[in-house]
Amino acid sequence: MPHLIQQLSANRVLGGLRTGLAGCTLPAATLREGPARDDGPGAAWLVFLCPDHSEDLPAWPAAASHPDDGSMPCGSVLEYRTAEQQLQSHADLWLTTLTGVDPRALGYVWSDVLDQADRVLLARVEEAGADGEDSPLQNMLAVMGVACRAAAEGDLEVAATSMAHCETLAQSLT
Ligand SMILES: [Zn+2]
Repeated sequence: MPHLIQQLSANRVLGGLRTGLAGCTLPAATLREGPARDDGPGAAWLVFLCPDHSEDLPAWPAAASHPDDGSMPCGSVLEYRTAEQQLQSHADLWLTTLTGVDPRALGYVWSDVLDQADRVLLARVEEAGADGEDSPLQNMLAVMGVACRAAAEGDLEVAATSMAHCETLAQSLT
């Protein structure tokens, strides 16, 4: 129901597409509306969930829920936040847990945050390689590289998009 999406997002331009829940491709029956953006009208994000997962994803708390007739697969997230806010969300939800890199400790300088996370991942991949193993983090490194370069050039939109790919990869790690 595109009309409802436009209404809930206050006709904002989509800021990014994420996967909140990998592995379920059932059509959504619920549209979970996130909190209001802090800089104007419209929801910060919208999450689509199938009946089996409608109560899942506590990290994405609902401000309201709406019925949906399969407009997106389960787990899809439409982002309407700024690139900086999306990067912070990636840190909160998985990046800091995975790498130990805390944006606060680096003054929220995203080029430094991503660079340091990249180094941590590279060290782990090399460690696994030394033990004769293929690390599943290898796939993430290529995408992290794109995120690092984009952030270094000040293009946080591309960095946030790259992190959305990494987020999906991170969900397949365990
Ligand atoms: Zn589902």
